[in-house]
Amino acid sequence: MGNRGMEDLIPLINKLQDAFSSIGQSCNLDLPQIAVVGGQSAGKSSVLENFVGRDFLPRGSGIVTRRPLILQLVNSNAEYAEFLHCKGRKFVDFDEVRLEIEAETDRLTGSNKGISPIPINLRVCSPNVLNLTLIDLPGMTKVAIGDQPHDIEHQIRDMILQFITKESCLILAVTPANSDLANSDALKIAKEVDPQGLRTVGVITKLDLMDEGTDARDILENKLLPLRRGYIGVVNRSQKDIDGKKDIRAALAAERKFFLSHPGYRHIAERMGTSHLQKTLNQQLTNHIRDTLPGLRSKLQSQLLSLEKEVEEYKNYRPDDPSRKTKALLQMVQQFGVDFEKCIEGSGDQVDTSNLSGGAKINRIFHERFPFELVKMEFDEKELRKEISYAIKNIHGVRTGLFTPDLAFEAIVKKQIIKLKEPCLKCIDLVIQELINTVRQCTNKVPLGRVVRNRKAVMCCFACST
Ligand code: GDP
Ligand code: MG
Repeated sequence: MGNRGMEDLIPLINKLQDAFSSIGQSCNLDLPQIAVVGGQSAGKSSVLENFVGRDFLPRGSGIVTRRPLILQLVNSNAEYAEFLHCKGRKFVDFDEVRLEIEAETDRLTGSNKGISPIPINLRVCSPNVLNLTLIDLPGMTKVAIGDQPHDIEHQIRDMILQFITKESCLILAVTPANSDLANSDALKIAKEVDPQGLRTVGVITKLDLMDEGTDARDILENKLLPLRRGYIGVVNRSQKDIDGKKDIRAALAAERKFFLSHPGYRHIAERMGTSHLQKTLNQQLTNHIRDTLPGLRSKLQSQLLSLEKEVEEYKNYRPDDPSRKTKALLQMVQQFGVDFEKCIEGSGDQVDTSNLSGGAKINRIFHERFPFELVKMEFDEKELRKEISYAIKNIHGVRTGLFTPDLAFEAIVKKQIIKLKEPCLKCIDLVIQELINTVRQCTNKVPLGRVVRNRKAVMCCFACST
């Protein structure tokens, strides 16, 4: 490795990541990381499994990855995996790792195939891997408008943006070669947050599936849609290979042969393939951490300072002291109220520049989602005209009137207004969800574990009262 002396940087960030994950991410420090994005079935899971040399990720149709998976690859002599949520238990059977990911996903999302932004932390130690941390995110979907799952498409987009908007995040944009590259979900979303292509690494999968006589040479040579970090092509196992239990090692050998023997890629074969991708990402992440470390350190220090100040305030705080109990509780409730109001009303101090606040999200629901739902409503003008004409005629009865009666107007309008009910209810649901998220965020900030543990109760009360 050309990074002597810096091999420890990735493990160092891993430690910070674990620490933040266990305290529920309430320190919003942006750690340098790599997020894997792409459309459904682009080949994201395959790339990650090839790095590890093991089958360990859930597979299937539909949205399989439903919570972010923070995957820490750690180079070590022994081969095993462990989860942060059941620390100490060493998994040596990788089928069990898959089952545990599935169970842990369902634990938060329920088995109704919802998604959740709360990550699962998995560490895989193996002699085959280079130190590397990647975040596997749900694949972007395109669900036909009008279908119920449409909501999920928005949620996934929001979740991906939450990760990749941060300047500290490298983006691994996975695109299958047998699709229209200019329309790649991965490259499009990456471009939204990284328009100059400075922190995006392109990965082109399924090169083996391209139409006879075509190749992806232009893009792999970084001539088409250029990125500063360029593109790396890979060939993963096909579904048939997986069903036939083709060994990953054999697949990697076949991949190497593919690049060496392909007339369009032979000249760049050294810069292609899974193992080159792994090496490149290890180096780029290490360099990236080195560059962001000074800023990170100063942020950590200032956070430490403000925390110490907070600790000072609570130094003489004894929750068991009856004379202080009420006052302390009142203070906490008050603080909670202030925080909540700030999230909803917005505030001048401490403006969050990386995430939308609860209030801003609610604003978006009203001004973007709601009109979108309204536009989506089916509206048949011909039918409406017919209804109006019937209503007018029915109200006139045997007489032929000169004027349009009010009653007809009312009857028609009432019918139209009822149609608004469904989008309104949907909008309310979304707002409630956002309010609950905001309450959760605010309770996260209250420095006393006791209250945080009571959060569930608060949420229940909140849900019941809305
Ligand atoms: P994900 O949804 O992005 O995680 O995609 P997966 O890694 O699960 O891959 C989706 C399907 O495409 C699977 O059936 C894979 O076997 C197949 N696949 C992925 N990459 C390649 C590739 O490079 N070549 C071929 N032939 N099939 C691939
Ligand atoms: Mg996947």
